Amino acid sequence: MTLHPDSLAVHAGRDDLASLGVHALPLDLSSTNPLPGIELGGLSYEVLATGGHPFEGGSHVYARLWNPTVARFEEALARLEHAEEAVAFSSGMAAVTAVMLALTHESAKRHIVAVRPLYGGTDHLLASGLLALETTFCAPDGVAAALRDDTALVVLESPANPTLELVDIAAVVAAAGDVPVLVDNTFATPVLQHPLDLGAALSLHSATKYLGGHGDVVGGVVACDAQLAAALRRTRAITGAIMHPLAAYLLHRGLATLPVRMRAQQEGARVVADWLLTRPEVARVHFPGFSESDPLGLVGTQQTGPGAMIAIELAGGFDAAAALTASVQLFTHAVSLGSVDSLIQHPAALTHRPVASEAKPSEALVRLSIGLEDPADLIADLRQALTAKTGRPEEAAAAVR
Ligand SMILES: *Cc1c(COP(=O)(O)O)cnc(C)c1O
Repeated sequence: MTLHPDSLAVHAGRDDLASLGVHALPLDLSSTNPLPGIELGGLSYEVLATGGHPFEGGSHVYARLWNPTVARFEEALARLEHAEEAVAFSSGMAAVTAVMLALTHESAKRHIVAVRPLYGGTDHLLASGLLALETTFCAPDGVAAALRDDTALVVLESPANPTLELVDIAAVVAAAGDVPVLVDNTFATPVLQHPLDLGAALSLHSATKYLGGHGDVVGGVVACDAQLAAALRRTRAITGAIMHPLAAYLLHRGLATLPVRMRAQQEGARVVADWLLTRPEVARVHFPGFSESDPLGLVGTQQTGPGAMIAIELAGGFDAAAALTASVQLFTHAVSLGSVDSLIQHPAALTHRPVASEAKPSEALVRLSIGLEDPADLIADLRQALTAKTGRPEEAAAAVR
């Protein structure tokens, strides 16, 4: 039966539950598994450690190789992303790292093209040289010029962190030619955007954000074809960046409400963004729902809606940003995003702190993640915080700098 996306979010990855005689997702915490014998046990090890699936009569062997609770979440996410398979990791950054290691190793190529802006951690991983890869950073229209014979991967994010710039995924895929493209789909989620349908080879999530949605789980996941998934599982088995089954359980449980949460948070964000436009304290509002923030007209085509993230530039610069983040009462001043509760943070001081100065966001920029609260309450909080005189900006500035 072909299901619509909302039904899929509720039912995907649960096909074996009835045969197990259970209705809720089973949580299997086994670190090791009984072996059927030396021969079949050894064969199971061989198959799983090289990225394959379990076989009838075999064993899951060891939790670093396979876990059924994690595998059910992966199956569900793959279906939502229109992918053959998905592979889950201990965090979004573990997923990014595994993609870099697997694709450069498989292709024996050492060069990455990275479209800025990117999440600060991804930018930092590539710029740091930790993985001994070479990276060329470029703008979305600079991909073709940045490609080399030894380019293994093109990386992009849309909407991009923290200014919510939208990158034309199909255009980058066309420019990349035969080189696989990785799209960080964390901000859009499969509710709004399907990178694989646009030609991307891999769609990645920090599952910590919207997929989890409740601020209580850290994880990462990559959706792709079966061949790339095998390479990623092989990398995961070797490096050990596995997702804990409890994280997979919480994420899978959360997927059921993902479409409803995403739509409601997006509606709230639209109301808050409209109000922010009217404020003299706010010099600029970045929100993909506004045509100024979407010059290519990608909302409605590439992604079905603007999402629930807003970035604002304060007329009063850094001091005003420090005062705002110190004065909110309903918003929590904290990094991360995508939770049912609203968060506010200063990217230049926090998530984008390790980014090179030429690519660092403005000191006047503050990022808002809109949750499920009544937008009227969020607006009331922002109204009092934007006009508060109690932020003690000098002290806050000294602490951050
Ligand atoms: C948070 C984030 C990451 C990193 O994920 P972690 O789960 O924190 O490791 C990667 N990309 C984007 C867009 C993010 O927001």
